[in-house]
Amino acid sequence: MKKITSIKTRITIWYTTLMFILIVVVLSLVGGLSYQLSIDSIEKNVVLQVTQVTEKLSRRQPGVFEIVGNKEEFKNVSIYENDGKYIVGQYNYDIANIPFEEGIPRRENIAGKDYIVYDKSTPGPPGRHGGFWIRGVESVSSTMLLGRSAIIIMLIIIPLILLLTAFGGYYITKRAFKPVNNIIKTANDISDQKDVSRRIEIKPDAKEDELHHLSVTLNKMLDKIENLITQEKQFTSDASHELRTPISVILAQGEYLLDIAKDEKEKELAQTIVDKSKQISKLVSRLLLLARIDSRRQKFNKEKVDLGVLIDIAVQSTKELASQKGILVFSNIPEGTIVEADESLLLSAITNLISNGIKYGNKSGHVAVSASKLDNKTQIVVADNGVGISKEHLDKIWTRFYRVDDVRNDEYGSSGLGLSMVKSIISLHGGTISVKSSPGNGTEFIIIL
Ligand code: ADP
Repeated sequence: MKKITSIKTRITIWYTTLMFILIVVVLSLVGGLSYQLSIDSIEKNVVLQVTQVTEKLSRRQPGVFEIVGNKEEFKNVSIYENDGKYIVGQYNYDIANIPFEEGIPRRENIAGKDYIVYDKSTPGPPGRHGGFWIRGVESVSSTMLLGRSAIIIMLIIIPLILLLTAFGGYYITKRAFKPVNNIIKTANDISDQKDVSRRIEIKPDAKEDELHHLSVTLNKMLDKIENLITQEKQFTSDASHELRTPISVILAQGEYLLDIAKDEKEKELAQTIVDKSKQISKLVSRLLLLARIDSRRQKFNKEKVDLGVLIDIAVQSTKELASQKGILVFSNIPEGTIVEADESLLLSAITNLISNGIKYGNKSGHVAVSASKLDNKTQIVVADNGVGISKEHLDKIWTRFYRVDDVRNDEYGSSGLGLSMVKSIISLHGGTISVKSSPGNGTEFIIIL
């Protein structure tokens, strides 16, 4: 059976069950008690009537037989001869066969019906040769009415009360838990859209209960987190910006040194300066781009872009790297595949994926770029038959500065920022990117725009 996970449903079931038990217990107690009281009063009444008639008989009061036969107050009493022969009173055929028994009122069941029976013998007036039996009989069935009405109440009222309890309770808990839904929604919005500026909605007239305090506290915490993130982004952005000029100067000086180098040793040193400066420059540009996208300051010029042309440019720009590794880069884009995108951003994303395919490709391998239309979307696939990525790294490769193999990647001046930049660019376009890979067989990046 499926476990009930909703707190609202669990609470509702819990107190509806409790309410049911409570009603049944209370009604049973009240019903049982009133039933017992009715029996007691019947017994008392029967004993009283029998005692009064007995007294009248023993004192030889005239007209006793008439009283018993006609008076309403003695309607439950009958008088019998000592041998059980009926004389007067309420002649009950069912009861008549029950042997007489002196003692306390007792319960007799005749033909499925309950009766209270009380017998008393009296010698009768002085001078009479035989005594009498006085019998009082009253049906218990009338008292059953009380029990029956309790049952009817139970059958009609209990379901009604329970229905009311369940609906009312569910409605109240649903209202009480509404802030929790707001909290869940905001948390989901923040994690889905990566937008920490979202806050839990708090109505001005909301009751100041525990959940209200929780919402206020969480909003305060989000303020702090947003502040910290903004500061961190600002720092990255400022630092990258400040680094750009000195790096350009170092690069220019390095290139100058390379030009005037007198021997191989100096050339080698100058080349290192140039290579490392280019590497730092690339890293700083990526950091700056990421910081701009994060803070929504990145300019985004959406226009109609011919994908075939854009991918041709990307392939051309990676040609040198590809030929160094003897890797063949080819593309297959149906003519007239147009996408709405920021041309330079999409170009740098796809160039990055192709470069990765080359960097992590095997000698004489290949990188294939293809595109196809899916409904009103465009799918771009960059696939290689290189080293591949093992499962444990697959979902971490989008993390900033994450590199699968530090040593291997160092030879290409890897930074671990490429894929996070690609992902940010594709998200900025409202698209998605995913990866499939099998170690030793290659990797496939799938963009959907
Ligand atoms: P890097 O600058 O290190 O290439 P990326 O963010 O582009 O940074 O890639 C992160 C890591 O993912 C890389 O270090 C590499 O190990 C792995 N990777 C990326 N693309 C591929 C690919 N096509 N084949 C195999 N591994 C890849």
